[in-house]
Amino acid sequence: MKLSVDPERCYGSGDCAYRAPSVFTVVDGFGAVIPGREDAGDDPKVREAVEGCPSQAITVTEERRAPTG
Ligand code: SF4
Repeated sequence: MKLSVDPERCYGSGDCAYRAPSVFTVVDGFGAVIPGREDAGDDPKVREAVEGCPSQAITVTEERRAPTG
């Protein structure tokens, strides 16, 4: 699961950083994923943050893994 914040939608409420402070932060008044935490989408707190974002600015995308073998 890959996390990203759409800066076009985010209006900087800070809810994401409040709900999951180990994954989200607020930079220059906008929500952002802390570098290196983009793959934390499975964490229940992150789920809450995604669902609780008032502007639906947080996207969680399935990472496609290259087939092995
Ligand atoms: S909760 Fe949503 S609108 Fe608020 S700072 Fe985070 S991404 Fe932006």
